[in-house]
Amino acid sequence: MSLHPVVGHEDFLSSMARAHERTSLPSSLLLHGPRGVGKQRVALWIAQLTICERPAADGPCEKCGACRMAVKLEHPDVHWYFPLARPKGVAGDRLVTALEDARMQALEDLRAEPLYASHTADVRGLYFGITKTIRRQAHLRPNMAPGQVFIIGNAELLVPQEASPEAANALLKLLEEPPGTSRFILTSSEPGRLLPTILSRTVALHVAPLGTDLIDIFLSEQTDADRETTKWACKLSQGSIGRALGFLPDGQEEGPLESLRRQALALIEVAVVRDPGQGYELSLSYPSAGARSLIPLCTFIEEWLRDLGAIASGAGDRVFNFDERSHLQELVARTPIRGSEIVLALTEVEQARELARGNVNPQLIVNGLVRNLRRRLIGT
Ligand SMILES: [Zn+2]
Repeated sequence: MSLHPVVGHEDFLSSMARAHERTSLPSSLLLHGPRGVGKQRVALWIAQLTICERPAADGPCEKCGACRMAVKLEHPDVHWYFPLARPKGVAGDRLVTALEDARMQALEDLRAEPLYASHTADVRGLYFGITKTIRRQAHLRPNMAPGQVFIIGNAELLVPQEASPEAANALLKLLEEPPGTSRFILTSSEPGRLLPTILSRTVALHVAPLGTDLIDIFLSEQTDADRETTKWACKLSQGSIGRALGFLPDGQEEGPLESLRRQALALIEVAVVRDPGQGYELSLSYPSAGARSLIPLCTFIEEWLRDLGAIASGAGDRVFNFDERSHLQELVARTPIRGSEIVLALTEVEQARELARGNVNPQLIVNGLVRNLRRRLIGT
């Protein structure tokens, strides 16, 4: 199976093609923008453009051998890295090898099923030892193309986790002076979390959210969800295909992002009730490990809180969760939620997210968050 064509971003792609034609495309790029809008897909398109044997004025030819291999994720000079869970029970050089094996398996899975929902990076985990692999690969000669292309998705998860300053410096050196004609394309939805030294060595380009009409067409063509469901997912997508995909049902089960959105609402509903026992009970329904799965949950809690704030201040037409507007209005009416405290409630969520990044026990995080939200929202 081949990758689906890039959806939207026409102006962005044509500016990349023009820069490539003028040989002025920077060798180290950072594509940033909201999660799930197609940054890594755009990065793969740029990789294809630079290895294409007969690039046209508006992009890769799509016909040459290099292009055909690139869209099947089979080109030996295009290296795509993304977050992976740490394999258990291995360390040192064996860990590096185990990670490469896991990456190869993940690429194999992507070849079979190239669509994925955009919250998976946080859940999957972190980069370990990747710099070592990249450094080794970058100093090898390219197999077919004039130079190699390295794509590093969710780059904000990369460098702060590298234990040794040596590894971080090695990556900086590669970004500053890529060996031969190789090229680095980093992507990030949270560029503020990248090290300043990385930011200063890459040319940052913004990849914007997509129009919902494009997402609607994409979902209708690429998935087998019914029209009503795709229209609903589109309205919740915030211009992100990866997000829209996460709302679509998975067989008989609701989509992973819909499940998180519901969990987030349940947490807020418990927080605005005065009974502390309910918060404790709710926290026990969470697992005692794997806090990273709370990171995307926090995003949904923030969206519900903003919606409550909008309704409490009479701007109910501005809510994200359009399908639950009347439910939220009812919640605001029957509880003493203080709209003015929403901003402080949001800082509590940010703190919970930091704890989740630090891998604190999820039950403790949820219990603390419910208590803190209650204090902010209804003042007890
Ligand atoms: Zn080509």
